[in-house]
Amino acid sequence: MSVMGGQVDVVIVGSCMTDLVSQVQRLPKVGETIHGHKFFIGFGGKGANQCVQAARMGAKTAMVCKLGNDFFGDKYVQNFKDHGISTDYVEQTAEAVTGAASIIVNDAGENAIVIVAGANLLLGNEEIQRAKPAVSQAKVLVCQLEISPDASLKALHMAKESYVRTIFNPAPAIADLHSDFYKASDVFCCNESEAELLTGQTVATVEDAGKVGVELLGRGCGSVIITLGAQGCVVITAQGSSPKHVPTSKVTAVDTTGAGDSFIGALAFYIAHYPTMPLEEMARRANLVAAVSVQTEGTQSSYPCKKDLPSALF
Ligand code: ADP
Repeated sequence: MSVMGGQVDVVIVGSCMTDLVSQVQRLPKVGETIHGHKFFIGFGGKGANQCVQAARMGAKTAMVCKLGNDFFGDKYVQNFKDHGISTDYVEQTAEAVTGAASIIVNDAGENAIVIVAGANLLLGNEEIQRAKPAVSQAKVLVCQLEISPDASLKALHMAKESYVRTIFNPAPAIADLHSDFYKASDVFCCNESEAELLTGQTVATVEDAGKVGVELLGRGCGSVIITLGAQGCVVITAQGSSPKHVPTSKVTAVDTTGAGDSFIGALAFYIAHYPTMPLEEMARRANLVAAVSVQTEGTQSSYPCKKDLPSALF
């Protein structure tokens, strides 16, 4: 489906996963078969999650990704279409399966997860090149690390060449992230555990987050946001400026899965629609969007639409 007018504001290059979730009293032991009491299938994958949140806020979005030519792949294409997300650069391949995450959650909320990245790993430089018309005309490009890092970096460079603003979310984090990722990031946005892995420092407090944020900024990004769960986030916008803690509202969290992706999807919307808004204000609003997402179960299914949010956020 082509978005009307052709031009999209937010382009996400990233992953799609089908979440297969079983709820059990306790996790099974090796060789054991046990009964669970609930099962559901959900749409996941960091890239797609972020895209869906941006679309629900009202951004014109396009997804650049690779799915299998299978049942889950077909369902995922439909999920994008249902959200008005352009699928011009959503490809399906017979060479691999649609990415899947088999998740077992016990009554204590602990989990065991197997991820098969499948087709996500076949999204390569050629596919990124094909998406150039969308990437080069977007207002913002968003990348993560659930696809090949090379493909993510190529997309980030492509955006920079066209003066398109970039958000990079180094998730899941890798300790030896190539230095070019920092230089290609206008906004480098990660959570506390990713910040720990990238810097080798402990992030236990808001103050710690500020310190590691300054270190990450020094590696060459335009600005840094470190998300801190119920504590909101810390924003560092320029060399020499002090880190700003941006708290969020107190809510009763039911399921925080995908909260970080909700935050990033909302941030992408704000950058696209309010390009001159201070980053701190965008982060304050993205906090409030993500805080809504943690109050209901599920990942994409918990993401609020524009109509569910206070008009002060727009
Ligand atoms: P991730 O999902 O990557 O672990 P975080 O846990 O840092 O990321 O959450 C991302 C954002 O979601 C936070 O910055 C905050 O805005 C919101 N959030 C997460 N957990 C809560 C919570 N318990 N209460 C309110 N907001 C939350």
